[in-house]
Amino acid sequence: MEAALQERQDSIHRTGEAPFAMDCNKDSLAGAVSQRACVFCGSRVVLYPIADALHLVHGPIGCAVYTWDIRGALSSGPELHRLSFSTDMQETDVIFGGEKKLYNALVELIDRHAPKAAFVYSTCIVGIIGDDMQAVCRRVSEEKGIPVLPVQSEGFKGNKREGYKAACNAMRQLVGMGDISGISKYSLNILGDFNLAGEIWLIRDYFTRMGVEVVANITGDGRVGDIQRAHGAALNVVQCSGSTMDLARMMKEDYSIPSLRVSYFGVEDMAESLYAVAAFFKDEEMMRRTQELVKEELSLIMPEIMKYRQALAGKRAAIYVGGAFKAFSLVKAFRTIGMQVVMVGSQTGTPEDYAELAEITDPGTIIVDDSNPLELSAFLQEKEVDIFVGGVKERPIAYKLGVAFCDHNHERKEMLAGFAGMLNFAREVYSSVMSPVWRFVPRKAETVQEEIND
Ligand code: SF4
Repeated sequence: MEAALQERQDSIHRTGEAPFAMDCNKDSLAGAVSQRACVFCGSRVVLYPIADALHLVHGPIGCAVYTWDIRGALSSGPELHRLSFSTDMQETDVIFGGEKKLYNALVELIDRHAPKAAFVYSTCIVGIIGDDMQAVCRRVSEEKGIPVLPVQSEGFKGNKREGYKAACNAMRQLVGMGDISGISKYSLNILGDFNLAGEIWLIRDYFTRMGVEVVANITGDGRVGDIQRAHGAALNVVQCSGSTMDLARMMKEDYSIPSLRVSYFGVEDMAESLYAVAAFFKDEEMMRRTQELVKEELSLIMPEIMKYRQALAGKRAAIYVGGAFKAFSLVKAFRTIGMQVVMVGSQTGTPEDYAELAEITDPGTIIVDDSNPLELSAFLQEKEVDIFVGGVKERPIAYKLGVAFCDHNHERKEMLAGFAGMLNFAREVYSSVMSPVWRFVPRKAETVQEEIND
């Protein structure tokens, strides 16, 4: 493929056209203008929704601005997470060190906002000058009596996955600090849902209807106190495995808590996830309640979804998302509405993730790791895509090419998880793909003109 650099060819696979192999899960190729965010951004997006914690970015102001209010993660209570604090490092701090500035900023912010804990993020320059963030955090923690946790997320030290790991390492220090008496034996923690547009409230409601207690949301609508009690839960359910699977592994190691990988996107995966939780607890009554719940929810949404399916049959979709696990669900969700996925990629997939994508996609589907605007544009044109699903960095690529776009990333304001979310997804895809505006974009305008002339 001409748009891809020679060194990138092994990160692109076409289902069924060659034995599966994928070069992935490594640093981006210099000069390829990757769509990936940095390590610091990876940790920031994971911890951001913890609403009663202070989030202080130790670095130049740009790093904080870049990630300010980065998710559409809603809170049912405090909203301290929506403020982005920075130590605003200047040239003199880089020369003489920024520890004093960090200490002063932490003390002032904790006095002013009385958070339950503080996360302090390291950025590139802090990694370079070597500020001892751990020592400063320890000192402030002792003085102020709250957990002050360093997040070792220097932007240059790897890819976005390293940031996820740094976030999990910081949360590991919180887990185990709270009182776990009174927690039900039918209990779980929700990992990897960020409460975009209130999604975690919907998922919590499903679990409550099944008879399962949710101990901690990690991290959507998250609270420090809940995370401190998370070791009292019987199970971790992990969505967005790239970002929080490390924490699940740590909790297995520290507290022997098992975990299940789940997905709340699409009717198939949503139902399977609930059944998997019910099966884990080996409770017949819970399984019966779960079956009823699924039946009830499907009866509410399927008649309308079938209408969209008829209109969308045969249309083509491309997907480029942060984590590959979401991509699996999206491939199935598009099938539910009669559409074919012709390209699918992610920023942080592993060889196992891509092998699974190769299994579930149709022959000829392009699978790509850590792509860039040039490649994505070429794929969209080659496959004559009707809709592109991605995030903020993919939106302009779609619109410049005159292709419909669906935001499935952390900035979105519409609920797409759960059964109700699947209906929203179908509605949005339908109204975007079927909009008459796409007939008048330059690459299609000629055909329209010919039709008019005829
Ligand atoms: S300077 Fe480093 S940490 Fe800050 S946004 Fe850029 S890459 Fe990320």
